[in-house]
Amino acid sequence: MEIDFKHYRYQRPGERKKRKRRNLTILIIFIIGFSLLAWDQVSSYYVIRGKKLILKEKYNQAEKILYKALSLKRRKAEINEALGICYLFQKKKQASKYFQIALQRGIKKSFFKWEKILDKLIGKGEYNSAEIYCKYLKKWLKSQNLIFYETTILLANYKIKEAEKNIINYSPEILKKFSKRINLQKKILNKLKNKKIFYFIFDRTHKPLYGRSIKKAHIIPVHSNLPLFNWKAFSSEDFKNQIILTINSKIQDSAIKALGKYNGSIIVINPQTGEILAAVNKKGKEDISYLNTCFQKLYEPGSIIKILTAVAYLMERKENIFPYYCKGIEKLQNKVIYDWISHGKVENLTEALAFSCNLTFARIGLNLGWKKIENVFKDFLMHSKIEIQGIPVSSLNIPQPTTNNWDLARMCIGLDKFKITPFHAALIASIIANRGVLMKPFLIKEKRNIYGIPYFKNFPSKIKRIISEEINYKLREAMIKVVEDGTGKRAKIQGFKFALKTGTAGKKEKGYNSILIGFAPAFNPKIAFSIFAEGAGRADLEGARITKKFLEYIKEELK
Ligand SMILES: [Zn+2]
Repeated sequence: MEIDFKHYRYQRPGERKKRKRRNLTILIIFIIGFSLLAWDQVSSYYVIRGKKLILKEKYNQAEKILYKALSLKRRKAEINEALGICYLFQKKKQASKYFQIALQRGIKKSFFKWEKILDKLIGKGEYNSAEIYCKYLKKWLKSQNLIFYETTILLANYKIKEAEKNIINYSPEILKKFSKRINLQKKILNKLKNKKIFYFIFDRTHKPLYGRSIKKAHIIPVHSNLPLFNWKAFSSEDFKNQIILTINSKIQDSAIKALGKYNGSIIVINPQTGEILAAVNKKGKEDISYLNTCFQKLYEPGSIIKILTAVAYLMERKENIFPYYCKGIEKLQNKVIYDWISHGKVENLTEALAFSCNLTFARIGLNLGWKKIENVFKDFLMHSKIEIQGIPVSSLNIPQPTTNNWDLARMCIGLDKFKITPFHAALIASIIANRGVLMKPFLIKEKRNIYGIPYFKNFPSKIKRIISEEINYKLREAMIKVVEDGTGKRAKIQGFKFALKTGTAGKKEKGYNSILIGFAPAFNPKIAFSIFAEGAGRADLEGARITKKFLEYIKEELK
């Protein structure tokens, strides 16, 4: 009998069990391998999602997903890098720590296109973050192109010699790839080499307003009456970029010229957008404690506040005190309220405002009572905190409610306890100029990186309607009459209609302050303004003269 060994395999007992075990081992290895691969896939998936979120600037969500990925214990180098980039965009210190871990884990490939990340950081003017990223890349990435980005960072930090050395040594490939931006680099380099001051704050037409000395890095204003910033409110990165203000140099210079020898301030706002076009800050010796007269010095407002008293009157429809007979003097609680002159018969509110009759507005206040006056003051943002790009605007204190008639009457004509900043006075003018609607005031128009590409823009935004169109119309009419034949008639300009309210306040010994608010042209106004001329005397005399001068300088711009 022949045995066909080809077809016959003898199986010893136990062999079958062994084979089973072997198959099982293979299966287990296979499963482990497969799940490792799958884990890898899941980790990659998380990193990619994290990356997308980072690029969409959703950093919190990105962080969450990346930490989840970290718990899978796969692709740790890449995940740590992603976290580093995530923190870099948030300008957080942890970034360097995560890059360090990525290096220790031996990063070889990245999920990110590193040039894109650098373009984005430099685009936003964040050179510190770009520098951290560059240093990290240099440790594992071999790319000639890095030197181009390093040069940009050097230029932003005024490191002239090192930047120049890099530019001279650019390889032909780099010169070809970045030719446009290299031309800009050369321009910046020349500026840094040839000028002692590097300008970084400009007006809306790109005229320089503030510079920085390249050697000592201290800030130098181009001329002295600019609004002073709280420089601490700016980041060190801001100084390396270009800040475009809403200021219009022509209007600013005209305001300085018009204010002449007086200390004080002129603020000009575009009522339709909220842009601050001029902010003259002319400080006296006693004002050293303020950063600004325009945003921070509190003045007794005088008769400009009668506009608010008028609003309270117009809101209370039942009330009618006209015609009112002004005798120039009225007794109140054993004291006497005086007027500049005795106005005789005051026909209506328009006349009362145009001739600025103290006694009419004292009477309005007494008839309406404290609460109604206070409410209008609050509507006009008295008692509210305002800040203009790092400059805190002094808060305005409405005095405590009182049943004292004397105090109430004096508040309604802007005397004694209640005080106001020139900026806030200009806001009141701006509200009336803009048909009763307050726009958010702002001073920074744009920020651009060193290549001149904008990375921040401020847009006009409405805060809220403060008064109705109907009430606003009446105020506008009255303020036009102030110029036509009222207390502002000395400011009248032939062929140029505008609106004004005058106020005279302060201490007699120092010379009264001339205070005026207004807007121009009267219809479709381009500017609203306040003028505070310290010690200039009566607003209807010297104040009107300053106003006329100022508007004559700029009226062509406003047509
Ligand atoms: Zn009067």
